[in-house]
Amino acid sequence: MTGFDVSEAIRKTDPSVIRACIEICDGWEVWKAETFVEKGLDKRIVEVVTEDHQSDGSYKGSMWKNGEMVPTARGVYGPRLLWTIVEAYGLKVRGALGRGTQAAILRDAIKGHLDGKKRCPECERYTIDESGECQSEYCRK
Ligand SMILES: [Zn+2]
Repeated sequence: MTGFDVSEAIRKTDPSVIRACIEICDGWEVWKAETFVEKGLDKRIVEVVTEDHQSDGSYKGSMWKNGEMVPTARGVYGPRLLWTIVEAYGLKVRGALGRGTQAAILRDAIKGHLDGKKRCPECERYTIDESGECQSEYCRK
């Protein structure tokens, strides 16, 4: 698989496919690779972000299925895919402490970018629309 440029492949992917894929990416879940292939994502992109994951024994750091801890699973960790897309689009996002919060920031940046919005230098979100005004609740007065 030499020469496969995952960033380029993502940039060429139909935005509706990207939207469908990021929608399910929260800060915790590890998805089966097929989940994203079924949504239309190029198999080669999915392969790049498919990894072996291990539960660490804690509630949040472990994978669960029907109430049972799954010690290891091969799949796509939502934030891994979100970061890969953010990098492909060349977006700049703020770091956050919480995994759920970070995933939401990544999803919002990708959505804003796909909606044609620009990054606001004040609140660092992709919330500047065609009017040139930031639509973020953090900047709107
Ligand atoms: Zn702003």
